[in-house]
Amino acid sequence: MPQKMKVLAITGKETIEIREVDRPVPRPNQVLVKIEGCAICTWEQRVYASGKATMPFLGGHEVVGRIVELGSKVNPKDFALGDLVTVSMIHACGSCYYCRRGEENLCVNAYANMSEDYGMNGPGGFAQYKAADPSKVWKLNPELPWENGIFVEPLGCVCKSIERANIGLGDDVVVIGGGVMGMLHLLTAKRRGARVIMSEIDPRRRELAESFGCDVVFSPKETDPVEFVKKLTEGRGADVVFDTTAFPAVAAQAIEMTGKMGRCIMYSSIHPDDPLAVSANMLHNTERVITGSVSPSIASFDTAVRLLNKKLVDPSKLLSAVIPFEDAKKAFETAIRPDTYRVIIKF
Ligand SMILES: [Zn+2]
Ligand SMILES: [Zn+2]
Repeated sequence: MPQKMKVLAITGKETIEIREVDRPVPRPNQVLVKIEGCAICTWEQRVYASGKATMPFLGGHEVVGRIVELGSKVNPKDFALGDLVTVSMIHACGSCYYCRRGEENLCVNAYANMSEDYGMNGPGGFAQYKAADPSKVWKLNPELPWENGIFVEPLGCVCKSIERANIGLGDDVVVIGGGVMGMLHLLTAKRRGARVIMSEIDPRRRELAESFGCDVVFSPKETDPVEFVKKLTEGRGADVVFDTTAFPAVAAQAIEMTGKMGRCIMYSSIHPDDPLAVSANMLHNTERVITGSVSPSIASFDTAVRLLNKKLVDPSKLLSAVIPFEDAKKAFETAIRPDTYRVIIKF
């Protein structure tokens, strides 16, 4: 009889159930990770709030756990029982055009065969166990609180975005939005030697940004954001703008406040996805780059592990609550509240 484990399945709009499935058995070249906790990202929040996904949906891709079993062919020099680890849960096929070029975040097969064999759709982190290939497992600094490890995946997404923005020393970098992703952009852009300017409506978030060393914080409700940024930059506009919010009108402002030769990164997905009018002549005359950034690559995931393990980025203030999986509904409702940052489901 296979051993059992519990998983959290979203089964419809605002409905989540604890289900029992077979506990995974690691193949000879795999390790078995007992998941300590998994954070609720925007993706899972959207599925929970809207009910829009193939159901049942087994979410969860920001995980921390401990190794509890080594497959017979795993090199014991690489991993030991009890190691604190994170696992990359986003599927990349390894063989498509983009995977072969080291751009796994653009894998054309990312959403195919994403789930385990539980008859559920989704990355599968809201579970008690995960069997994983060593290439998907990163060791975490055991001196740091285990909860910090859930930030590897979101920070990996941000490292990809920072890399695409090509920030130089002394650059003016605008971060629009002071949620988890905005704050991680702030922390990493500071490490890159930028002057960081954050646009955020909520005064408590502005205060937190200041405590993270943000150089300038302002409310786009109190001042025109485009004018404000231009004034700060002698009329030029910013060298880099990251839009971490989901609104088309803000995306248009992000483009407008980007200076000549500047890079404007659409970090967030946009809802509703209303098309923007962009002047081709403006692009011609200003050499602005408007682009996006999505998900982490293996390399940016690795960068995030190094930043966290060496304490170069401390995201601990971005953790709002740790809630046991038996209270999953409460955990999702807490995560969706606008006044919270990351919420971890504890297994
Ligand atoms: Zn995430
Ligand atoms: Zn691929």
